[in-house]
Amino acid sequence: MSDKVNFGEELVDPAEKTRRVGAVFSSVAQRYDVMNDLMSGGLHRLWKDKFVARVKPRPGEAILDMAGGTGDVAFRLARRGALVTVADINADMLGVGEERATKRELTGLTWRVENAEKLSFESGRFDAYTIAFGIRNVTDIPAALKEAHRVLKRGGRFYCLEFSTSDWPGFAELYEAYASRVIPRIGKAVADDEASYRYLVESIRRFPKPAAFTAMIAEAGFARANAEPILGGLVAIHSGWKI
Ligand code: SAM
Repeated sequence: MSDKVNFGEELVDPAEKTRRVGAVFSSVAQRYDVMNDLMSGGLHRLWKDKFVARVKPRPGEAILDMAGGTGDVAFRLARRGALVTVADINADMLGVGEERATKRELTGLTWRVENAEKLSFESGRFDAYTIAFGIRNVTDIPAALKEAHRVLKRGGRFYCLEFSTSDWPGFAELYEAYASRVIPRIGKAVADDEASYRYLVESIRRFPKPAAFTAMIAEAGFARANAEPILGGLVAIHSGWKI
């Protein structure tokens, strides 16, 4: 029998976790972008801008934006001329993204349903791999990191944006109170879906601390694994190189 994994605070079978995460994102897909603005007070836009500035996409580069959802990071990469494959396990999230891309008349984007744990791309295909607020939802994170390493070219770079742990005195407590009390209520009021937003908060709480996640990136084979805290560590940019 397979080991249980956390779905929020609950322990479930791995396949059940993947199914439930799928249900969460199918449920929030249509409201996902407006909810991101509401929950972060628009901050997620600044985090994503900073993230893409770190990735430094170059015109014509092949970039895999994994767990790309509705395309926020992919659009920023494509605007700088990169050829972006937006991959996500959830077709509903990608569907919303494709509609947004069409409205904005964005080019250079390919949309693919993929599980980060087992990609269908050939080895050494991409110059960079990005994953923003996605990795904590993946059931088998070490498998996803190994796949990221496999599909990158030598000299390719890995960048991950994820919620993290703040070091600012009092800030972590304040954020915890906000996240656990306010976010599920916004979820209920705006999207009539308290349970999905409760899962999202719990998944943030359970994600490994920066040093532990950096060790996982190195374990997957990446060199110069690093974590850069942003805004006192509320979010962090994790990176590594395939050499
Ligand atoms: N990157 C986008 C952004 O920053 O707005 C979307 C982030 S959203 C919080 C997380 C995404 O991870 C969802 O679209 C979900 O479907 C996707 N996801 C979860 N598990 C996945 C997996 N195993 N493989 C690929 N995508 C996955």
